[in-house]
Amino acid sequence: MEKICVFCGEKPENKNKEHILPQWLLKLTGDPNRIVKFGTVNGKTIKFNWKQFTAPACTKCNDRYANFEAEIKTIIEKICFKEEINGREALKVLNWLDKVRIGLWLNYYFLEQNKGGIIPRLCIDNRSGKKDRFLQIHFLESETHSKGLNAFGVETFLFQYNPSSFALKINNLLLINGSTDFMISENCGFPFPKNIEVIKNGQLSLSGWVYNRETNLDIYGMNLRKAALTLYQPIQTELTNLFNFYNDSYLILNCLDRDKKIGNIFLLEDNQLKSIYELEKKIKYNSITGNDVSYIGEIVSQVYQLQINVIKNLKFKQENRFAREIELNKEYAEFYTKFHEYNNIVDKN
Ligand SMILES: [Zn+2]
Repeated sequence: MEKICVFCGEKPENKNKEHILPQWLLKLTGDPNRIVKFGTVNGKTIKFNWKQFTAPACTKCNDRYANFEAEIKTIIEKICFKEEINGREALKVLNWLDKVRIGLWLNYYFLEQNKGGIIPRLCIDNRSGKKDRFLQIHFLESETHSKGLNAFGVETFLFQYNPSSFALKINNLLLINGSTDFMISENCGFPFPKNIEVIKNGQLSLSGWVYNRETNLDIYGMNLRKAALTLYQPIQTELTNLFNFYNDSYLILNCLDRDKKIGNIFLLEDNQLKSIYELEKKIKYNSITGNDVSYIGEIVSQVYQLQINVIKNLKFKQENRFAREIELNKEYAEFYTKFHEYNNIVDKN
């Protein structure tokens, strides 16, 4: 397998190793030299220490992200202490999760020797901030003493085909992140195509455009478990033919950068999506009570279901293209639903 730089997607120049999960995060969540089990290849369990969880990268590319990682460290630590963050910081977290999600995706591509049989077109540079995305922040109340770092959803075939959603547990913090074409455009009242057909290796043919300026909450028919913070951001940067839509007053009002077709962040508050206009303003966390309280397993299982719904929303020339992989995801989803208490499967301290 040819190595490519996780950042620029080219042959690594002056080769370096990027820690997919950065050192500061390993230190924050336990002994950075701890051994973890992570998936299987040809029936063999892969074991390694977190520090070795690296992917190829150019030295230059690696250095480019150093300042960003330093900024993110401060923001994630804040969130761990339940300190409020503002819109600008939330945008950085969304960018960072794009980086981690794509990094993990490429890492599994190498680690499991391309079990999805894909041609990797994505790298961190060309994918970060390019498509619709959402973020949920959950505080895991029942585990006051829990330390550890886990990623969920990154081990599936469906994630290898389309790295659309995953969960990252950082001690008592659980981040749910999703991003793919038009994942939440419809939710935010942005234009979206009713029909998305996959032509080849991820290229899409889009038709049946709808634009109704109406917001709604369900993502692919799923009403996600209530979180302390839920943010949606529509991004249609890669579409070249939507200029008429973007002259409309609703999109003028609700864009961070209209030329690049980057929407505002929308905050889920009182069962409504509200555009955030002032990025410096602190965002309040919801308190979760009564029936809204979730077990970690219930939250995590949604990631596996979401991956299924994302794939089912695509039209393939070949019917049942992912029938077997979908069944596997259903098994994961069921497995986690049954875990009422957190079971530390991946990161054993
Ligand atoms: Zn590079």
